[in-house]
Amino acid sequence: MKPTFSVIAPVYNEEPVLPALYERIHEVMEGVGEPWELVLVDDGSRDRSAAIIAELNQRDGRVKGLSFSRNFGFQEAVTAGMDYAQGQAVILTDADLQDPPEVIPEMIAKWREGYDVVYGVRSEREGETWFKLATAKLFYRLIHRITSVNIPLDTGDFRLMDRRVVDALGRMHERNRFLRGMVPWVGFRQTGVHFKRAPRYAGEAKYSSVRRMVKFAMNAITSFSYVPLQLATFLGFIIAGLAGLAIFTVVLLRLFGPHDPLVGQATTLVAVLFLGGVQLISLGIIGEYLGRIYDEVKGRPLYLVQQQWGFDTPPTDGPPARDSA
Ligand code: UDP
Ligand code: MG
Repeated sequence: MKPTFSVIAPVYNEEPVLPALYERIHEVMEGVGEPWELVLVDDGSRDRSAAIIAELNQRDGRVKGLSFSRNFGFQEAVTAGMDYAQGQAVILTDADLQDPPEVIPEMIAKWREGYDVVYGVRSEREGETWFKLATAKLFYRLIHRITSVNIPLDTGDFRLMDRRVVDALGRMHERNRFLRGMVPWVGFRQTGVHFKRAPRYAGEAKYSSVRRMVKFAMNAITSFSYVPLQLATFLGFIIAGLAGLAIFTVVLLRLFGPHDPLVGQATTLVAVLFLGGVQLISLGIIGEYLGRIYDEVKGRPLYLVQQQWGFDTPPTDGPPARDSA
């Protein structure tokens, strides 16, 4: 029998957290009183996470697991979870218990009211550095301004989605995925519930490195906006306009001014370097998009599954064949 609810958690080196995660999810989902499953996706962990998932599956058949052949990343892990989950509603949560499972019943209540997506809105964040808070705030505001999809402010990936949303996401095969933007893009009826984001239960955060955050932001922007590409046109017009004015002024000064306005090589040098810089930046922006187009064209699988626990279907490198029931 298919479960009503699937809770999906991506797992990367979460050995100390997994038993507690199971306990908390178990308690909350038993309270809901309908069939459920917990899908744990091991994203190529180097600790005993996979072994613990196997143990949990032995203990309770409702815990199912996948193990990737290597570390593919958060977005890929969540995608795999959604490809394999069978529930009528799917709940995404981090494995580190920063998203309190106790909020899930509230989300389910909204789902029963007829909403297709119920996202968690962070009203408070505990145990995060001011740097992460400030950059996150800036990032959300920026995305809000330059993309056409309306990504709700201060939401993470903690959310409940109806089966039809999950199926729609399953048809979006893009690489360099940015789920937080893809879910609003899908549409349907969406709403939010507020919650307080807890500090990580144990272990270390993997996203804190600036490099990862920059990559995340670049994927978000390039997936949903052409604004950076248009920036070159915009800059081109501005600089051409300014140059036109400058030519005019220089000619006037030469003809009627007290002395020659263009003395020394510094003027030429600065102008050439400035334009060189602008051109390199524009090329770089085109490169960002080009690289992503290259990724799409190669059409590689999003992830590779090396082992699975509790699923009837054989492992695949993409969505398993779903029966249409
Ligand atoms: N994660 C993953 N693959 C990765 C990095 C992280 O599946 O390459 C998982 C991790 O196990 C956790 C979630 O993604 O369940 C969020 O990661 P983390 O807590 O490090 O990020 P933060 O809370 O700082 O955003
Ligand atoms: Mg975390």
